[in-house]
Order: sequence, then C-alpha cells, then structure tokens
Amino acid sequence: MDRKIIIAIDGHSSTGKSTVARQLAKELGYIYVDTGAMYRAVTLYAMRHKFIDESEIDKKALEQSLHLINIRFEVSSETGLAEVMLNDENVEKEIRTLEVSRQVSPIAAISMVRRKLVEQQQLMGKDRGIVMDGRDIGTVVFPNAELKLFMTATAKDRAERRYNELLERGENVSYEDVLKNVVNRDHIDSTRKDSPLRKADDAITIDNSNLTLVEQFDQIHTIAKDAIAQKNLLS
Ligand code: C5P
Repeated sequence: MDRKIIIAIDGHSSTGKSTVARQLAKELGYIYVDTGAMYRAVTLYAMRHKFIDESEIDKKALEQSLHLINIRFEVSSETGLAEVMLNDENVEKEIRTLEVSRQVSPIAAISMVRRKLVEQQQLMGKDRGIVMDGRDIGTVVFPNAELKLFMTATAKDRAERRYNELLERGENVSYEDVLKNVVNRDHIDSTRKDSPLRKADDAITIDNSNLTLVEQFDQIHTIAKDAIAQKNLLS
C-alpha cells in the first residue's frame, strides 16, 4: 500500500500557498488544511466580541474566551471545498476581508492562541496524507514532515495578486493599502517571539515571482511525487 506523507507549505503572505496546496491535495487524494483560516476565524471572533479596539487587543479577555471558540472545516456541497466554521457558522467569506487581514497577525502572535490551534492541527495530521499551509508548519507543527516547501515572491507581485482577488470579491480597497498589509503582516509574522515565520533548514524554496500557476503546480507536483516515492522506497 502507498505510504502517505505530510506536506508542509510555509511562506510569505499572498504567495498563493493555499491555491497550490489545495490543488496538490486534490491530485494526491490528501486532506488539505488552511491554517491561516483558523487564525483568521479566531480574529473574527475577537473582532465581533470587541476584544480589538482600534489596534489594541484585550489579550486577557480573548485568552479567557478561547475555550468558547470552536473551529472546524466542513466540505461545502456547493463548491466541494473545505470551508471554515466558527462555532458552527460558515465564516469562509468574512475571514477573507482586508479588515480581518489587518488584525490577524497580532492575534496570531499570542502564544495561547497558537497552542490551541497547533494542537488541533497536529491531530488533523496524525494519520499523515495531509497538505497543510501556514507559517510554522515545517518548523513547529510538523517538524518531521517528509516534504517542506517555502514559498515566496516579491512583495509587489504578491500585493498585486491579493489586490485583484479582493476586487473580484467586490471589496473596495486600494492597491497601496493591500501592499502595506502584505508587508506589515510579513514583518509581524517574522519577528514575533512565538513560532516566527522562517524557512525550515530542510525546506525547498519556491520563488514564484516568474512562474505561471501551471508551471508552479507542475514543479511542486513533481517534487511531491518524488517525496512519496522516497518514503515508499524507505519503508
Ligand atoms: O495564510 P493567511 O494569509 O490566510 O494567514 C493569515 C495570518 O495568520 C498570517 O498573516 C499569520 O499572521 C497567521 N498565521 C500564522 N500561522 C499559521 C498560519 C497563519 O501565524 N500557521
């Protein structure tokens, strides 16, 4: 029987991690988990409960409420994609706004938030056969993942992509604000004390600034097939 592996995809904001991770999971028959969606859902909860005022976070109130926050994924019968549920409410659309993107990195820097979500993510991967994307998957969540990728691209390329996505969804945003958000999130994510964004020593870097989606997918799919073959050879 084919042995399954864990594929950890980390990298900078808006590098198209989730698009490629989702496609790869589908191709391999693996489960896909978007961990950014989990941090976004906690952020939405904090916003709704007014734990964030301007940019000030009432960390204590959020920590005390963490046990009331239930996050899970449910496959939508409409799209066939796993969508994020916050206390049984589908919040897939709401968590993708620029407003949530603005607040999420400081929330994701809180250790108690990370501990709760990392524990859940590790459980999801216990049987392997999973593609997970985020910022600390190869370094903290699954340091023993058989394949680790680190995706990056220029800030300009990433902001352009995110800007077009938001426009398509009907959000009224400016390119400058999106660029600022992408750069700012990377800064907070890379400099936080707990599980900062960094490339794992054994991760393969994919710079997709000059790659089309098809080229990028082909490249990553080949690397993944090799890693799976390697695992089967060794076992
Ligand atoms: O992947 P996405 O851009 O949706 O992630 C939103 C934010 O969640 C990131 O900017 C980061 O602050 C946080 N995050 C994290 N660790 C992860 C995934 C996301 O800190 N594993």
